[in-house]
This record gives sequence, structure tokens and C-alpha cells, in this order.
Amino acid sequence: MSKKPVSLDLSRRDFLTKTSASLTAPILASSLPTIANAKAPFLGTSKPQFYRIKVGDFEITSISDGEAMIDKVHPIFGANTTKEDVDSVLNNNLMPTNLFNPSFTPTIINTGEKIILFDTGNGDDGFAPRPLAGRLTRQLESAGFTPEQIDIVVLTHGHSDHIGGMKEKDQEVFPNAEYVISAIEFDFWNNLEDIPKGLEGFSRTFIANTKGLKEKFRFIKPGQDVVTGVQAVEAYGHAPGHLGFHIESKGKQFLIWGDCAHHHVLSLARPDLHFFFDWDKEIAAQTRKKIFDMVATDKLAVIGYHMPFPAFGFVEKRDNQGYRWIPNSIQLK
Ligand SMILES: [Zn+2]
Repeated sequence: MSKKPVSLDLSRRDFLTKTSASLTAPILASSLPTIANAKAPFLGTSKPQFYRIKVGDFEITSISDGEAMIDKVHPIFGANTTKEDVDSVLNNNLMPTNLFNPSFTPTIINTGEKIILFDTGNGDDGFAPRPLAGRLTRQLESAGFTPEQIDIVVLTHGHSDHIGGMKEKDQEVFPNAEYVISAIEFDFWNNLEDIPKGLEGFSRTFIANTKGLKEKFRFIKPGQDVVTGVQAVEAYGHAPGHLGFHIESKGKQFLIWGDCAHHHVLSLARPDLHFFFDWDKEIAAQTRKKIFDMVATDKLAVIGYHMPFPAFGFVEKRDNQGYRWIPNSIQLK
């Protein structure tokens, strides 16, 4: 389909001519469905599974790995404040106070030279169970890719909703891929003996999914490139070595921010709220503010792993110090 915008010359005369023509068009009674004819089986709810845009020379595809349904919001968000405080932000935004529904959105960048997958979803042993999540491998084909085509798997961090899809039944899903992660992250999750209490499950999944693959890993620091045009950005706090990635092609830029936000209303409006799964709650809050401020100031497009699918959007800075997620509509296509 052509992407050239249609030029609308809506002079009053033209508008009236077209409108009156459509109003006076004959309506054939026989062509209207009867109530009986309109019946059809219910098909179940449906959501898009992938979404593709072009940024410079890069094609960017976001793929839904699914979602989780968690029956509370506070104190997962805002253990450092009251439930009433959190509920009031949710109520003001017409959001339920008893449902946390994060999306999981791996992203593929085709640079023309390399096919790079950012995060692998939940797989069969990740954070969120099947059938709601762990769908990446099933969605790849409909999005136009095979697992063998993936040249590089970039892991923003080691949580199991990001690394769970690396293996299926102990076999590598992306057999030809090089893996890229921060060394801080790799060492932290691989060390079960020293892992803080409560994080043992994440550590076990990480150890199982990276077992035997160390020689396929490349360790990266903030400021270093995965490939030309894909540069790691420090976003520590949610996990010790959590990274975002700044993407640039032909002067067009955007940021893959990984897990800088987990709720498109709460995380943005109140970046100060502690989040249960943040490794260091204060550093994570500082990182949120720093990243949100940068993307709002620079009007940088964002892909947010846990933002509502397809997870492309922008951030507006509000007068009261908070921020607002603006889902992409026609800015990126
Ligand atoms: Zn996550």
C-alpha cells in the first residue's frame, strides 16, 4: 500500500457535492442484513501480534510474547507510599486498582546487515506462564522471521521474562545467534550462592538458559556498540547491569529502554514509586527519572518492553514533575 499521503482539497463546493451524492445514493432494502442473517459465532477477543515500522534504513518489528494478569497493583508499585496514593493515580487515569497487566514485547531490528533480537520473552519457564505469555517463537514466523535468521540476541538484563525464551526444552531457540549482555548482569545472575534472597528463581532460570553458551556471549558496557547504530545506554537499578539501547539510522533515533517502566501510567506519572521487582529501588527510581527526562527533552521515540503493545511511544514531561506515556499513532510508521 502506498504511504504517500492523499492530498485532500476540501473546498466547500467539493465537500457539498461529495456529501450530497452519498446522501442521495439509493439504498436497496434487500441488501440490508436481517437480524437473523447478522448472527455469527463469537470469535473470541483478538489482539495484534506484531507491528513493524521503518526508522532510517532499519526495519523495527515489535512482537508480542504475551502478557501477565496480576490481581493487585499496590504494593507491587508504591510500597514506599499508601495504597490510597497509588489508587488515586490509577483512578484519575481510568485504570483498575486491582489489576496489573504488563505486556512482554521483544523487538527485532533488521539493519539490512544483521537481524538483532532484543530480549527473548518468557519461553516455557519464564516469569509469566503459558498460554498467556511465552509466545515469541510462535509469533516469529507470522512476523516474517525464522529462529535461524537471528544473528544477535541482545539481553537488556537477566530476568526470566527476558531470557526465558533463549531455550525450549533445554535446546537453543536461536542456534546461529551471538548473545550480548552486560558483564555485570551475566556475573550477578550466574552466582546462585551470593544471590540476594528472593531472587533465587531468576538466578536458576538464568543459569539453566545460559549453560554451555558462555563462549557465544559478548559482554558490553554503556557507550559501546552492538553494531553500528545500536549503542548501549546505562540504565542500572531494575537489575544491576540493566541496559537500554540507543538506535540511530540516517539521523533517525529512538531508544529501547528495556525495563525502565513497568506500568504505562504509574511508572511514568510517579517514577519515585518503588517497584517490587527492582533490584535497587532508589537507583531504579533515579534511572527512570533520568531516562524519562532525556526522552521527553529530546522527543525521542521509545520502545518500552512492558508498555502496552505494540510498545512504541513517546514521553511528555508534565508540570507536576511526573511524565506521561504517549502511544505512537502516526509519528512512526
Ligand atoms: Zn521485564
